Amino acid sequence: MAERLSEPILSVRDLHVSFPTDDGAVLAVDGVSFDVGENEVLGVVGESGSGKSVTSLAIMGLLPKRAVVTGEVLFRGVDLLTLRERERQELRGGRIAMVFQDALAALNPVFTVGHQLAEAVRAHNEVSRQEAKSRSVELLDIVGIPNPKARHDQYPHEFSGGMRQRAMIAMAIANDPDVLIADEPTTALDVTIQAQVLEVFERIQERTRSAVILITHDLGVVAGMADHVLVMYAGRAVEVAEVDDIFYDSKHPYTRGLLGSLPRVDGVETRRLVRIKGQPPSLLHPPPGCAFHPRCDHADLPGSCNEDRPELAEIAPGHRSACHFAARLPTVEAADAEFAPLVDHLNAGSVVGPPSGPTELGPVDTLRPPGEAG
Ligand code: SF4
Repeated sequence: MAERLSEPILSVRDLHVSFPTDDGAVLAVDGVSFDVGENEVLGVVGESGSGKSVTSLAIMGLLPKRAVVTGEVLFRGVDLLTLRERERQELRGGRIAMVFQDALAALNPVFTVGHQLAEAVRAHNEVSRQEAKSRSVELLDIVGIPNPKARHDQYPHEFSGGMRQRAMIAMAIANDPDVLIADEPTTALDVTIQAQVLEVFERIQERTRSAVILITHDLGVVAGMADHVLVMYAGRAVEVAEVDDIFYDSKHPYTRGLLGSLPRVDGVETRRLVRIKGQPPSLLHPPPGCAFHPRCDHADLPGSCNEDRPELAEIAPGHRSACHFAARLPTVEAADAEFAPLVDHLNAGSVVGPPSGPTELGPVDTLRPPGEAG
């Protein structure tokens, strides 16, 4: 993990989560560790099935009973995995809160938004109904819902998608949590509303100084908010670094693939948007060696990539990567420069379709594991 900004409030250590099935165990999270401290935002990024949401549910204690969870989830030094369900319930929604992706499903349609907010307040505080109502109106105001007094008595279906998500944020912060987990909080929203909800998040985080875990498949979402980023693939952490290092000096081909599919907003497009080829692997039968090797343009096949699993290793202070070739990947600038002539060609309209052969990451045969002749 990159240099700490503060003492960790939450430390996850060697977390493993598996689900037994008739065909064998599905290892959804495989040895993930991270810390997050007060007023810090950790972005956890990956495609569907990377294990990021299962990680958050393991922290919250919301996994189905059949899930097998090992490792440690230390909240202020107490391992949550050793607590009784009743003790975990007391923490949930109080000291540790979560914002879910689908606000409509998370809110109860038969109660007003204000009633649900007031219940969230009363669940963890001994206050009168009137005090809980005042607090819930205040919470709606904090998350930027106009005319909060009137909105307090409306039902979820009377709220727009963006307002429902704000109401979910209000519910999550009702008890000033120490840890706030947001699982794809903007995925169901259109782009303009996404930006508004993220802005609410930023304001809330500044106000509460909570430790925030922001889970998303979209690196763009973490760009303006996260201090550190943990990139997950096939249940494992494959790159961990400060946010700037992820965006400007990524040392893992998968992270670069995620970045390659992000459009620039400054209009200076020097590279073509490239999506990562193929599909995420089966977690029941993951590929041998590096799980990313079937999709990776840098894989030495056959070779170390499909034989040896790369460990998450420090390649610079505060920057870790699980790639045999991390130290020898071309710089992001060099990779963009290499790709620029193709982009010009494409922009001139003379080529249609994705590039064949090496992508912007550079030719495969220039890369060999450190110490190996090539
Ligand atoms: Fe690609 Fe090999 Fe690095 Fe895995 S270890 S990301 S397959 S180059």
